[in-house]
Amino acid sequence: MICYHCNKTFPDDQPYYNDYNVVVCKPCFLEGKRCFICRFVGNDLREVPGLGLECEFCRGKVVAEGDSLAESLPPIASFLSAFGCRVEAAPRFQWSDREPLLALQTQADLPRAEFFDDYLRHAYPIYYRDGVFHMLRRMPRPAFVVHMIVQLAVAHVSGAFRLPNLSGKTPFHAYAQGWCHWIGYGAAAALNYDRERRQLRKWPELGLQGDFERWETMSKSQTTPKVSAHFHATVVALARKSLMDAEPAYQP
Ligand SMILES: [Zn+2]
Ligand SMILES: [Zn+2]
Repeated sequence: MICYHCNKTFPDDQPYYNDYNVVVCKPCFLEGKRCFICRFVGNDLREVPGLGLECEFCRGKVVAEGDSLAESLPPIASFLSAFGCRVEAAPRFQWSDREPLLALQTQADLPRAEFFDDYLRHAYPIYYRDGVFHMLRRMPRPAFVVHMIVQLAVAHVSGAFRLPNLSGKTPFHAYAQGWCHWIGYGAAAALNYDRERRQLRKWPELGLQGDFERWETMSKSQTTPKVSAHFHATVVALARKSLMDAEPAYQP
């Protein structure tokens, strides 16, 4: 076999890494510089400021800063409408470096994420606050779709209660955040985005996904419309208990 990175021939029985229809020898994979998004060794890595290296395989194929997102939104909005979530006509997006985006979500002292999936372990790549969707400068399209769904649901629910977002420690926050996360998880399953489904199942590790397990368990014995109806029917009473100044004007 011939290594894509060093161009040297190596015996077929030696360990190697393959992706994008090329093979990379083990020494190159372990020592070479790798792409922030896909972890693969590239031959034309370029630095994306505030993010990391991007390889020639990812360049132009991932959702990236400056892309028009308008055409991606209608199918996402129609998926969310089945859960009683409305999507505003022109959401505001802001591309972000990884450190500030992480800081919006957690104050925990975390090791610097070397790769995109390390980042997902602790934080969302899209995060809604105060009318703005803060987004990492690059992400795979499936990650964009499922995380946009989670955060548009967050925007809908927090908007209904006139909150900046759903971060918080009360039972209401855990309940509502878990429901939004569960919608994104369901989207990943419906779209056969297996990697994103597995990631949303266990991450983020610091509890941003609230009481996701509650909704996941409920969905095993009830239909999706029933789970959603239950959320809309119960969230106001919980908000009244948890939020001192809850607006009871929630419109599911
Ligand atoms: Zn090599
Ligand atoms: Zn890549």
